[in-house]
Order: sequence, then structure tokens, then C-alpha cells
Amino acid sequence: MTLAFVGKVFDGHEILGLGTVVVEGGEISRISRGEDIPPGAQLFKGDFIMPGMIDAHLHFFGVEEDNVMAWNLVSEVDAAIRSTRDMEILLRSGFTAVRDLGSKVGTRLSRLQRRGEILGPTVVASGYSLAITGGDDDPKELPLEMAQKLSYSFYCDSPHECRKAVRLAVRQGASVIKVYASGAFSQGGKIQPGFNVEELRTIVEESHRFGLRVASHAYGREALLTSITAGVDTVEHGLGLDEDVAEMMRERGICYVPTLATYEVPFEVSEPQAGKVREEMVRRHFTDDMRIAVTHGLKIALGTDYVGSRKRPHGRNYREAVLLSKYMGGIDVLRASTSVASECIGLNAGHLREGGSADLIVLRGDPSINSEDLAPQNVLYVVKSGKLYRGYGTINS
Ligand SMILES: [Zn+2]
Repeated sequence: MTLAFVGKVFDGHEILGLGTVVVEGGEISRISRGEDIPPGAQLFKGDFIMPGMIDAHLHFFGVEEDNVMAWNLVSEVDAAIRSTRDMEILLRSGFTAVRDLGSKVGTRLSRLQRRGEILGPTVVASGYSLAITGGDDDPKELPLEMAQKLSYSFYCDSPHECRKAVRLAVRQGASVIKVYASGAFSQGGKIQPGFNVEELRTIVEESHRFGLRVASHAYGREALLTSITAGVDTVEHGLGLDEDVAEMMRERGICYVPTLATYEVPFEVSEPQAGKVREEMVRRHFTDDMRIAVTHGLKIALGTDYVGSRKRPHGRNYREAVLLSKYMGGIDVLRASTSVASECIGLNAGHLREGGSADLIVLRGDPSINSEDLAPQNVLYVVKSGKLYRGYGTINS
């Protein structure tokens, strides 16, 4: 069947104006100006047509709560059932690709989606993340053996163990490697260190040998410098970005995934001092970090760090675009949500091209003017690999 979509077209890079996107056999067969509907095609009209959005940083934790213990304790069965639901929600909210940076079920969701057995976006999955023993994602209330058994991370503590951990992730079917170059906000007044440069270098070398990119969770200058020196491909969160770090990232083409959306929601903080550190670093992230990232021309990608919990539910991932729009123009936000995100996670997606795979969305409103128009209630249709799905938007006509 031939499908024709008419509306204002954004191709992942530029606005083309009013146009028609024709989809046949899973591919975009034609993009033309104005209304140019092939005979016999089924016509769908909307205000705005663009590539499906991409979330470059999320987790399929399948839990309602936002704490490390819950993320570790959840059974694989519960995580799988809830995440399968989240996959469909993401797709119908306009996301046609996502990168899962550490979970119990990401590589399996990825495989089942590719095989067409479940509905959802393409998943670039890390499998288990790599972390140090006693790091922030290691629930220290539990005996170590139990924590490791339940974890969504491989704990590794030397170049040798870290090389092995990369291979274990490869064995799970990872298509990216996620590392913790630092902790988060748990250590009183300080950010806990993560891998040292020697361990990180080994991880990067081994990952690249397998053709996998490395995504590094980095809070603070030390972790940022260690990550960059070791040669990681994307910096996640990146709190504490400064001028020289940004310049090093730009020179090396390292992507920045600031995950602003996750900091909109208050975290459960057990130590008051950690709360103060968090508050100050987050305040700086929303001011200096973002200003520096934009002025240095970093490749900034949409990534929410949503986990599928009550406070960070999959389906509201467009929030990151809204937050980015405080620092970037509307078109740049759309690029960060499509072509730039795709480039950062190594997918051939995020653009509308003749002969290319048909992953696109049809919206009400104009998100190049107002990023809020990317909200699920404006998503009328989603096309994934050429197949048409209803979005959450109400169709009037
Ligand atoms: Zn994360």
C-alpha cells in the first residue's frame, strides 16, 4: 500500500515547507514540494511531518520507584512486562529509536523489536552497564554477591576485569557500552569517583575493537577529563562542564547528552549535604553547563534518563526537547531530537530521505516554533519501518 503524508516537512536537517512524503514498502519513495499525491495512495494530513524522535539516553527499568534498591530488586519478568508496555507507549508518543544505557531487559527488547515480535522503537541497548564495586548503582545494604546477582551492572575493578565485562556485555547482545566514570550525588558533599583512566582506556579499546561506542556517565571535571582522555564517544549528564572540557569535546567530536529532563524531578536524597551539592550542580547545569555547550558548538542530543517510573515515565520524553528549547532555536532542538541524536548513537535514522527507511511522525502544531507541540497529545500518526500506527493525538478530520 502507498501512504502519502502532507504537511510542513522537516527532514531532520532543514524545514522544506509544505510537502508530501510518500511511503511505499517500508521506504520513503518520494519527498516533493506542495501536495503531490500519487494516484491510489492513502492520504494523511497533519500540520507537521518530521523524522521520529530519538531518545539517546533512557533505561528500561520497569519499576515505579526512583531509587537504586528498587532498580536492582525488580525481577526480570516484571521489568520485561512493564518495559514491553513502555515500548509501545514510546512509539505512539513519537519516538522511533531509543538508546537504553543499562537495564536488565534492553538487549532482549532490542532483539524482539527487530524481529517484529513486539511493537516499539528501535532499541540501541548497552545490556548491563559497567561500574566499579561499591559505586552509586551498587546497593551497599545488600551482601556483595547478592548485589552483583541482582544488578543491571557488571562491577569490574581492574583493566583485566573491565575487558572481561565488555565481553560479557557483548555476549548479552550490547550495541553500545555504558560506563560510570563517576557516581552521582550520594557521597555527602562529594561526587564519588568511578573508573580510573587506565580502566576506562581498556574499556574503550575493547569496545571499539568490537565496533561499539562508549557512553560515559560523568559528573564533575575529573570524570569528564578521565572520560575524554580515555576516548569515550558520548558524555552523559556532563554536570560541571567548563570551557576547556567543552573545547576538548568539540575537537574530538564527542557528543553531549545533558539529560535535563531527569533533573526537573526531585530525587530521593537521604543525606542533606548531598541535597545541597545536587542543588548547586543542577543549578549550574541549567545555566553555565548549557551555555558553554551551546557556545562551543557541541553536538547536543536529546536524552532524558527516564527509567519508566512514576516520576520519569516513558511517553513524556519530549520534555527534554522543551527544556533544550531554552538554550537553542526551534530547528536546532528538532535536530537534537532527530539527526544529531541519531549521529551520536550511531544509527542511520533521524532523517527523511528518498530511499531511506520510513520512520516518521505526523503532528498537530509546529514544533519548530513551539517545542511543546512535540507532546504525545499532538502526535497523530507514527510510521515505523513503513508501518502506520496511531499516535495519542486526537484526529479531528
Ligand atoms: Zn542513565
